[in-house]
Amino acid sequence: MGRQDCKQEQKLNIGRRSPCRLPLTRMKRIICTTLLVETSPQAMPLGAACIASAIKSSPKTAGHFSVELRDFSLEDDALRSLATEAEKANSIAHALVANTPDAVCFSVYVWNHLLLEAVSHALKKMLPHVVCIAGGPEVTANPLAFQEFDYTIAGQGEGAVPALLAELFPQDSAATPEHSNFPHHKPIAGVYAIASREAASPQDHGNSPCRALPCLPDELSSPYLDGTLDPARYGGALWELARGCPFKCSYCYESKGEQKIAYFPMERLEKEIALFAEKKIPQVFVLDPTYNANKQRAVQMLKTIARKAPGMFFYFEARAEFIDRELAHAFATIPCALQIGLQSADPAVLKNVHRTLDKKLFARNIGYLNDAGVTFGFDLIYGLPGDTYAGFCKSIDFALSLYPNNLELFCLSVLPGTTLHDDAPAFGMEWEEKPPYHVLRTPQFSPDDLARAEKLSQAVNFFYNDGRAVPWFNAILFPLHRRASQFFEDFAAFQQNAGSKKKHIEKIQTHGEPNSSVATEQQQLEFIRAQYKARRLENLLPAVEDIVRMNNALSQCTADGTESTINMHYHPDDIMSEYATDIRFFVQNCGKQTCRVRVFSGKNGIDWRLV
Ligand code: SF4
Repeated sequence: MGRQDCKQEQKLNIGRRSPCRLPLTRMKRIICTTLLVETSPQAMPLGAACIASAIKSSPKTAGHFSVELRDFSLEDDALRSLATEAEKANSIAHALVANTPDAVCFSVYVWNHLLLEAVSHALKKMLPHVVCIAGGPEVTANPLAFQEFDYTIAGQGEGAVPALLAELFPQDSAATPEHSNFPHHKPIAGVYAIASREAASPQDHGNSPCRALPCLPDELSSPYLDGTLDPARYGGALWELARGCPFKCSYCYESKGEQKIAYFPMERLEKEIALFAEKKIPQVFVLDPTYNANKQRAVQMLKTIARKAPGMFFYFEARAEFIDRELAHAFATIPCALQIGLQSADPAVLKNVHRTLDKKLFARNIGYLNDAGVTFGFDLIYGLPGDTYAGFCKSIDFALSLYPNNLELFCLSVLPGTTLHDDAPAFGMEWEEKPPYHVLRTPQFSPDDLARAEKLSQAVNFFYNDGRAVPWFNAILFPLHRRASQFFEDFAAFQQNAGSKKKHIEKIQTHGEPNSSVATEQQQLEFIRAQYKARRLENLLPAVEDIVRMNNALSQCTADGTESTINMHYHPDDIMSEYATDIRFFVQNCGKQTCRVRVFSGKNGIDWRLV
């Protein structure tokens, strides 16, 4: 559900396709719902929970409605077993109908847009009186494009939804919706009545729709603190520290935002983090797209986290240009990982999407993270206006030279309602009309190039990210005299040629079989052997295999405690020494020592010993 307006007076009409005819004899039931793309600690119905929490606490609606939070996941067994989208939509609608709601608030995103529209359609067939309301970033961008809902909310929903519900279901029990002034024309900020959209002026409903002004964060109730959302159920928490962004990357919904950051009050955040600690939540995903835009606040928050939630793992999104030594050391004081949007290593390409990059500054600041031992990853986008496949490959090479823990490669989405959506025709771009709105071609990036980039993305994800290759990747690449992007192109071709093996890998990637890390390592080693043999570097292979196996065993044990025993050609202390980063030098100067090594979780952390 999107963000809302508490104060702005607006000009839009409220109306509805058919009058509500429910008698007002019982407390109205409201369901706040969403469809999650996966079942994971990172997938939580936070937006829907914020709306539910707002309905419970708003003076307009508090105590007048029965509010339920209901979330579904595409990975729920009940949905996975269904073949078609229509069946999935019907299944969700049936589940919602069981509670006979009077209104359903849908939290809509790119990944659930089409299915939730189908759910609303099915729901209204089963329960004609139900009022369907939709909000969220997709709806905010284009509130009049959603035909299957009765109302759409542009902007933040915490103020607009209670205001709308109060109008739809007045508390005067003597009145019915028909006898009240419903449907009527009282304006509510950010609310679009789909049935009466024609009545609104083009100025309001054109490219710049009337949007609810943001609420002040200190006016919003916390869905965690009021018990609406229990993070223990999800094994993690999405923790909203701030709303808004000072940047205007043209492909992002924030490109037409207010360029302001509104921070949630420290008092609320301290209570939330104490609750997470009390519930022993293992991991927290921080929602603040530029966590370190305010360094003083960022450092203060890290100290609070270290004090209140020692041992809890945190994920942050950060801007590389604001990282310095002090901040890097502050991050190093807690268990955490940073995700950093690089998007492209070509400043000219980034200029086309209203971003800037100073490569030297970027590399220097990432060096501070490496020096402090902070885990971080990068995002890159392929298909950006002005970029080429060769340029994208250079971006991969630059990114991997900085030792990221993971590298995520995304296809560009031309999202409706963003500045890029306005600019894209002038760039000669073509893109999908429906979610996920992927770019289909640009004058510089052909469909074939996009397909090659997608294969590279899969190869990097499998070999580097899932294969936890960061500790050893640059060391094993160096003797091959290949660029990182060439290496992954070769790996993509290797996977393609693997035939049935590839199908097996895809199965593992999709369903995460228990032995997937073993299968991944087998694939890594098989490919590395082929590469080294093709270049007559067989003499280096024993050391290479030891390096891969030893580091993978340590990563696995760190990640999930899995202990393992491996056969090695060299002593593990030598393999884990800095000399092994130069494999040729290592092989020339270090004697072999065949041994078996146990990697385990000891009193002082991950350790190994000869067995
Ligand atoms: S991509 Fe990130 S930094 Fe850029 S405008 Fe969006 S939220 Fe802000």
